[in-house]
Amino acid sequence: IINKKHKEDKKKIKIKNVEVGGDALVVFAGPCAVENRQQIMETAEAVKTFGGQILRGGAFKPRTSPYSFQGLGEEGLKLLKEAGEKYDMPIVSEVMDTREVEMVCQYVDIIQIGSRNMQNFSLLREIGKIKKPIMLKRGMAASIEEWLMAAEYIASEGNEEIILCERGIRTFETYTRNTLDLSVVPLVRQLSSLPIIVDPSHGTGIKELIAPMSLASIAAGAHGIMVEIHPKPQHALSDGKQSLHFEEFNHLMKSVRRLHEYL
Ligand code: PEP
Ligand code: MN
Repeated sequence: IINKKHKEDKKKIKIKNVEVGGDALVVFAGPCAVENRQQIMETAEAVKTFGGQILRGGAFKPRTSPYSFQGLGEEGLKLLKEAGEKYDMPIVSEVMDTREVEMVCQYVDIIQIGSRNMQNFSLLREIGKIKKPIMLKRGMAASIEEWLMAAEYIASEGNEEIILCERGIRTFETYTRNTLDLSVVPLVRQLSSLPIIVDPSHGTGIKELIAPMSLASIAAGAHGIMVEIHPKPQHALSDGKQSLHFEEFNHLMKSVRRLHEYL
């Protein structure tokens, strides 16, 4: 549906006052996980102040170990919504389970499907029935065909408001958490009508690589980027090593804007 039929007809996705897929570059930023009110409020303020458009924050976290922090659940969504409203930004958060789709929809503006669930077909069909934009992250071992077909599952149920997000894939390399595959950006733009953003935080796992990979993503034609930021990255309950401090985010935003204006 979305991939073959109207690939010339580029899809623009409106989320409140933000448009993803047009000429403007959209920056999604926020903590890996919502941890408490102060953390998410301070972070939302920083996202807004330094020019980000969409606030991210995990409430249901797909952690490798079941003993690691799993997120605050519905309480986290309430705090994220409060922060989004206070700073007038749409919010995005991940849903991992079909049984929670309805509840999560009551809070968020964009539903995130994480890498680990990219081919959870029952979840894809479920969110295909709702009327909210979806951000579909690439599976960590998914080919482009599999990723686009996952989007197709969502669209086949009626929801064509899908933003693709490249977040790196598993390779033999161990210096980085994942191998960020930026060649997909121009390729997906050629193959599909859907907007594509890049997540250099999960894509590299290393905060020093976020700025250069953000710029490379934009140069490659990404419609936006998603970065993890935290008031105290060294104390973050998840993904601190790949999270920018606010001043680093400010610096990133300045160079991102400069590059985007130049292009
Ligand atoms: C995230 O963005 O919070 C996340 C868990 O990412 P991924 O699904 O890409 O690992
Ligand atoms: Mn994370």
